[in-house]
Amino acid sequence: MRRLLLVVLTTLGLLLAPLTTVTASAAPEKDASAKDKSDDAVSAAAKTRIRAHIPRGRHRLGSRAPITGHVSGPRRIVKIQVRTQRGFIVLGKTRTNKRHKFRINAPTWWAATQKLRVFVPRHGRFAPQVSRVRVMNVPIGYRPRGNKAFGYLDTRATRWNPCRIITYRINPRRAPRHGIKDIHRGIRKLSNATGLRFRYLGRTKELPVHKNKVHFRSDMVLGYGNARLVPQLRGGVIGIGGFTRGNTGAGFGITSGFVVFDAKARLRPGYAGGRATWGKVILHELAHSVGLAHVNNRKNLMYPAILRAGPSRYGRGDLRGLRAMGAKRGCLPRGGSRLEEKTFMDSDLRIGK
Ligand SMILES: [Zn+2]
Repeated sequence: MRRLLLVVLTTLGLLLAPLTTVTASAAPEKDASAKDKSDDAVSAAAKTRIRAHIPRGRHRLGSRAPITGHVSGPRRIVKIQVRTQRGFIVLGKTRTNKRHKFRINAPTWWAATQKLRVFVPRHGRFAPQVSRVRVMNVPIGYRPRGNKAFGYLDTRATRWNPCRIITYRINPRRAPRHGIKDIHRGIRKLSNATGLRFRYLGRTKELPVHKNKVHFRSDMVLGYGNARLVPQLRGGVIGIGGFTRGNTGAGFGITSGFVVFDAKARLRPGYAGGRATWGKVILHELAHSVGLAHVNNRKNLMYPAILRAGPSRYGRGDLRGLRAMGAKRGCLPRGGSRLEEKTFMDSDLRIGK
């Protein structure tokens, strides 16, 4: 009986095999036709037609610059893509309304020259389609100081995967006045400079570097400690920051980041110039957590001392380094690396004169 069943199943398998082949060979053909038309805003052959208005030219950082348009067919998903060194990546997503229209803000939160397009994925029998590419330029909004120097903590320039949103948590214990607000502001500035996207997951009781052990729960953890809890803060160090590299699941890169500030450091809250502020320390440590090392230039924030008269914003070298670690590089290359998992950090930031 069992043998008979096996024979029946085998025959069924043989019968199904040719059918499966037919469906499989039909699919790539459709994909190819959509790809051929990929540079046309309107394609008669494809079943999807896009009309998109993408902002061009200069736009202020964080300003409203809507991308609007019309997509044929039923309600469709609309993705905003930007060109990187490794192809287009998605930086925003919306849907068309009942009247086939869509509206979404261009990613003006990222200070970069962006080559933008609208991508509409396949939906049932409606083929995928892309719009023309438009160039939008978002300047950083101030004149960066300092020289062009920057460096990497890991000589391999290990970086985050910009195709994923990086989550972070804050341990509010021992935080100074406005500490949490200042961290969120710092993260925004880091996002502006790198094109990396961050999402706050809330508070944590965890301290990322606790008695020499690095803990991880969300992608990044930031908190306030002291030399007793965190030995790296001994000897007047006001902050440490770094990351762990490893297999992210989507290529070799940064798997977690951490920052710990010395809760007892005597600093002013905020980001004002002309004084020693928490803002300067936050920007410095955040740059470590995305992979940057110190530089020997007092006008860049990666100088290993917080100076009253020093910069309160990322300098020329800082910005070049942050760009090199950011979304411009595209998604991480697939596949792992034989390199060992390793933690990198910098721990000699002090208040200088
Ligand atoms: Zn440092």
